[in-house]
Parts: sequence; C-alpha cells; structure tokens
Amino acid sequence: MSGVLPAILNSVLICLVGGLVGAALGEARDMPSLGALLGSLLACTTHAIWQSLRAQKFVRWLRDTSGPAPRNAGLWGEVGYLTERSLRSLERGIVQERLQRTQFLSGIEASPNGVMLLDVHDQIEWCNSVSAQHFSLQRDNDRLQTVTNLIRSPVFVAYMQAQEFDAPVYLGGPGTRQKLMVLVRPYGDGKKLLLSQDVTERDRSEAMRRDFVANVSHEIRTPLTVLAGFIETMATVKLSEAENCRVIELMSQQAQRMQTLVADLLILAQLEGSPPPSPDRWVGLGGLVRQAEADAQALSGGRHRLSFKGETDVEIAGTESELQSALTNLVSNAIRYTPEGGSVEVRSGVRADGVVELEVQDTGVGIEKGHIPRLTERFYRVDGSRSRETGGTGLGLSIVKHVVQRHGGELQIVSELGKGSIFKLAFPAHRVRYVRAASASLPTAAIAPP
Ligand code: ADP
Repeated sequence: MSGVLPAILNSVLICLVGGLVGAALGEARDMPSLGALLGSLLACTTHAIWQSLRAQKFVRWLRDTSGPAPRNAGLWGEVGYLTERSLRSLERGIVQERLQRTQFLSGIEASPNGVMLLDVHDQIEWCNSVSAQHFSLQRDNDRLQTVTNLIRSPVFVAYMQAQEFDAPVYLGGPGTRQKLMVLVRPYGDGKKLLLSQDVTERDRSEAMRRDFVANVSHEIRTPLTVLAGFIETMATVKLSEAENCRVIELMSQQAQRMQTLVADLLILAQLEGSPPPSPDRWVGLGGLVRQAEADAQALSGGRHRLSFKGETDVEIAGTESELQSALTNLVSNAIRYTPEGGSVEVRSGVRADGVVELEVQDTGVGIEKGHIPRLTERFYRVDGSRSRETGGTGLGLSIVKHVVQRHGGELQIVSELGKGSIFKLAFPAHRVRYVRAASASLPTAAIAPP
C-alpha cells in the first residue's frame, strides 16, 4: 500500500502538469481548455507507455529470476524488490528443506534395519538399502510399485490386507535361510512406515539357548532319577552287604557323572564370560603334552599303546588351563573311543609357515562323515550310550573348539568309520615362539603342511 498512493499521486501530478503546460501553450492561441486537455492526455499517455516499459522489464525478469530484479524507482522498483526478496527467502527455505531431507534419509539409510515409506495406496515411495536387500527390491525401478505386488508372501499380503498393525509379522523361517520381522506403523494421512529386521541369528541363538537348557536338564535329571531310585531302594528294602556295596558304587558313579557335567558347564561358562587369552602369556607346549600323557596313562590303565612325540622348544601365547583342557579332552576322547589294544598317538610340531599343530590320532571306532560337522555342538554325540558309559558329557569337543578359537586357531577333524580319527589343533604363527629347552625334549615329529 505504501508505494501505491505515491504512484497514484505521481500519475495525477504528471497529468496535472501536462494539463497546465497544455493550457499555457493553448493560451497563446486563445484555446487554453483544449491545450489543457491535449497536454494532460499527452502526459498521461507518455506516463502509461513509460510504466508499461517498466512492467515489461519486470515480466522479463520474472521469466528468469536468476539475476537481480530491475532496480527502478517507484512502484515497479518496489514490486521488483519485494518479489525478489520473497523469492530468495523461498529458495533458501527449499534448499534448507532439501538438505534436511537428505540428512534425514541418509540417517535412515545408515539404520541396520530396513525402512520403507509407503504412500496412501501402499506404493513404495522410498526404501533404504537394507530394506531393498531384505525384500530383493531394485530401489529405482520398484519405486511407486504396490508393495504387495513385490512382497508376495501370503503372510505379508494378509497382514497388509487386515490393516491391523499392532503386532509384527514374521516372514521366512523353516526352509528359508532368512527370517524377517516386519512391522508397519501408519503415519501422516494414510501413509505407512514399513520396518524390517533380520532376526535369523536372534532366532537361532534363542533356539540354541532353549535346546541347551533342555539338554542340561535332561543330562542332570537322568543321574538324579537313578540316584533317587537307589535311595528309595535302600530306604525300603533290606539289602545284603554285597548288594549295599554295589548300590553305593553305582550311586557314586552317578554322582561323579553329575560332577563332571557341572565342571564342563562351568568351563564353558568361563570360556564365554572371560576376556580373550592374553597374547603375551607364554605356555610351554612340552608341559602341556607331558600332562596330557600322564592323564592318558591313568585313563588307559595300560589298555592302549600310547605314543607322545613332538616339538618342546615352543611356547604358545594364551591361557594354560584352557590349552591343557583342550588337549586333555582330545586325548581322553581318543582313549574312550578306542577299544582295548588300539593305539593313541599325540604329535606336536611347527609347520614351515610357523603354525603350531597338535595332533591326536587314534585307531578307534572312527566317525561317519555326516556327523563330523556337528561334533562340536553342545551335547552332540554319535553314540550316546558309549559316551555316557565312558563318562562323557557331550561337551568335550565344544570346549576344545571354544578354546582353540579364543587362541586364534582352528580344530580340524579327519575320521573314518571303523578305522580311527585325527583331531588336529592349529595355532597361528603370531601366537608361537621358540624357546631353548634345557631338558626333557620329546622326540621330534615332522608334521607335513596340509
Ligand atoms: P563326549 O563327552 O560324548 O565324548 P565330545 O564333545 O567330546 O563328547 O564328543 C562328541 C562326540 O564325538 C562323542 O560323543 C563321540 O561320539 C564323538 N567322538 C569324539 N571323539 C572321538 C574319537 N576320538 N573317536 C570317535 N568318536 C569320537
């Protein structure tokens, strides 16, 4: 309004001045009124042409606003200035908004979960790369496609149709590799946010935890039931001296079984809960092998041919109790699964690439190929009754695997049914060092590179 009044006054003034000049000129010819009329008409026309030229200049600028608006005095100058100012502020707002949107989307892009935005017709507006990977989508090509045309799982389609999004839906599962948890959250005016999370690993460890608890309960319940049975027998039946001795011996066997199980469970819990083995605590290989030899002799009681050969001038960085437990478990298995008269051989050596290998070979019952990948699972047994008869808990090899992995190494198993097995522990070169052993060296065994 501020510029309009002066502009009107300005136009009126110009017409007035034109009229006055016209009247003055008309006076000379004795026609002042006609002169005034013509003068003001001429002034008004010139002013109107001048204004339309300015307006044209302004319209030209409006067509391409990249440059500055025409800087004129008067109404058009003010219109230009005000238009340019609000245009620039609008542009700044748009740039700011775009920046925020980009930052927001890149924030969602960084999410470990899948995020998809659906419009009111359930068409994909945008999705992050995790979501695209979860549902095998092509982010550019699949934009504006109806989501149920691309995610065709009947469970998902039913979920979208039911429009009840209080609880998540699970896609995949048995038979498929991946299990997804999908949750839809409505927002805005009929739009939807579709969140997806890969729960394959979570489900697997949950199932493993359930199995583990069930297995532990079963393992403990069995000797407990036997013990309870014997206690009841002793309380109700009068046993002879010999029977009494026999029952007590059986009870002590069951108690021993529970003790061994609890001890193994504690070792596993410790392995899972304790920090990784120190890289600068050195454990002599010779000492480990000698201890395993003493244990083997006690366990075998002369029923097997035992042989211990290998490198003693070597130390492994790690925890002695863990390494000892791994080797002793392997040796104990070799003896327990090798019938009387068979042989058990322990070899240790350093490969050309610096890797230390500890091999326990037996001529025992051997293992069918199909079982080998599962041997290190907790409570996995090829022959349950033989394992239990010989005092096994089904946890030995999982302890071994844990220990070796914590020391950066690996466990390899080679076995043939009826012929025997080789269990090999390999520790990486960076965890190995040579020492000059003063005494007690074992005969050296050459271990060929695999
Ligand atoms: P367990 O306490 O039952 O011996 P492990 O975890 O030590 O449990 O071993 C798992 C299974 O692997 C055993 O039950 C047995 O069937 C098989 N196994 C382990 N070592 C040997 C071996 N040296 N010879 C044959 N079978 C073996």
